[in-house]
Amino acid sequence: MHTISELDLRTDFVDALPGDASQVPGSRQVFEACWSSVQPTPVAGPQLLVVVPEVAELLGLDPAPTDELAAVLGGNQVVDGMKPFAACYGGHQFGHWAGQLGDGRAMTLGQVHHDGQSFELQLKGAGPTPYSRRADGRAVLRSSLRELICSEAMHHLGVPTTRALALTWTGDGVLRDMLYDGHPEHEPGAIATRVAPSFLRFGSFEIHAARGDRETLRTLVDYTIDRHFPELEKGDVVGLFREVSRRTALLMVDWMRVGFVHGVMNTDNLSVLGLTMDYGPYGWLEPYDLDWTPNTTDAQGKRYRYGWQPSVARWNLSRFGGALSALVEDTAPLDKVLVDYADIYDEAYVAMMLQKLGVESTDAEGDHALIEGLSALLTSTETDMTLFFRRLADVPAGAPASEAASILAEALYEDVEDYATLLGDWYAVYSVRVAASSQSDAKRRASMNAVNPLYVPRNYLAQLAIDATEPGKTEALEELLDVLRKPYTAQPGREKYAEKRPEWARNRPGCSMLSCSS
Ligand code: AMP
Ligand code: MG
Repeated sequence: MHTISELDLRTDFVDALPGDASQVPGSRQVFEACWSSVQPTPVAGPQLLVVVPEVAELLGLDPAPTDELAAVLGGNQVVDGMKPFAACYGGHQFGHWAGQLGDGRAMTLGQVHHDGQSFELQLKGAGPTPYSRRADGRAVLRSSLRELICSEAMHHLGVPTTRALALTWTGDGVLRDMLYDGHPEHEPGAIATRVAPSFLRFGSFEIHAARGDRETLRTLVDYTIDRHFPELEKGDVVGLFREVSRRTALLMVDWMRVGFVHGVMNTDNLSVLGLTMDYGPYGWLEPYDLDWTPNTTDAQGKRYRYGWQPSVARWNLSRFGGALSALVEDTAPLDKVLVDYADIYDEAYVAMMLQKLGVESTDAEGDHALIEGLSALLTSTETDMTLFFRRLADVPAGAPASEAASILAEALYEDVEDYATLLGDWYAVYSVRVAASSQSDAKRRASMNAVNPLYVPRNYLAQLAIDATEPGKTEALEELLDVLRKPYTAQPGREKYAEKRPEWARNRPGCSMLSCSS
């Protein structure tokens, strides 16, 4: 175990890729470069609220909360071997090309090599960069805490994600108009320390293509393949696109499985490594609803609603592929990748849903009917998706609809007079499928519970942790993090973390509606 200054720090990204070495302050357009040199802006009084030990272990870092660690993760100290940089990228936001975006408040301090792996150590909220445009480069406690909770929850759920090492209280206030209603207030600031092999996104490639800068694009593609896709040959642009597309399809299957809604699936927020990244106004599906989005900014068009995510990911991939097309003579193989995306997604989605349901595949038509029938059932009355699947595993084979209804009713948000009748048609088909299965009830339950989490970072749970957290008061946050370490295992005494959303949280900001203000 090492202290932060003893880590094996390297600078591969800045060494291998063209950069904007200028350190002139102020926002600007940065050309022919993948990064800009930056320095974190010191904060008034950095204090570590939490250090996640298993992420520290990935880095070989001693998780003890020392003054030095707080100073580095608060942005007050840069240790030898770090060359902090902000990445240059662009992106399509809500379907439109937005030009240069870039790390406006994130900066990578350096790359930590440990045990044959390499991770970027990145601060989010450490002050302005050339990409900050008119914003302040800071982050509020509620957004940094949400990023930390959700990235760790995702990891333990088995969903590919960037990780979070720490949450650091800055001691500074940050001015935010949380509801965008003209009432800005000072809120406590906090920096999230993120960790990932790379934070490269679709937009990291799009920016160079949009500017006609094939040379930088080519260099970035070569670097990406060399460092992150070593199984590919140098220059295999189509292979890169195929693999990013495959990983993205599987990521979407995982999001659908656990009920995660990203909220802002702009191309600058989609990782080329297929990781969930950039946790902003995300939300967890409580009442099952394909049309739900937590993001108030997207309330009108609902472009990024739950059920639309797989299609949006494909659209985003088409933008990424469009950028890569500058490097190939024949674009037909890139188009083919997009066609294959739908097949990869569909096949994996059906397999995933059948495992959630605990039944085996029969024929494609029957499988689709079962899955779609369930979706209609869950929509017909407000049903908590997470609880529904956990309770479904408790329904014994051969149970009549009345028994199933009494077990499943716990997942309902409203009183339904005759839930057995409502369940009726779908349950009749389902129970035949269960009866046809060769598995015992116990085996089926175990296999269902392995993909149906009991504990997810419900929006209101994260909000309760936010309300309870300040320096010296981190028990609520640590307990929530701990519950989420074993999301598939019932933890006696922690039943309150598995309950459906209480009524008070239905319309409370932060609990079911999130703004982009962060
Ligand atoms: P997001 O929607 O959070 O992914 O952010 C979109 C773009 O805005 C990215 O380039 C961010 O770095 C930038 N950004 C968001 N919030 C801030 C902030 N407070 N200060 C500077 N840049 C920001
Ligand atoms: Mg972003």
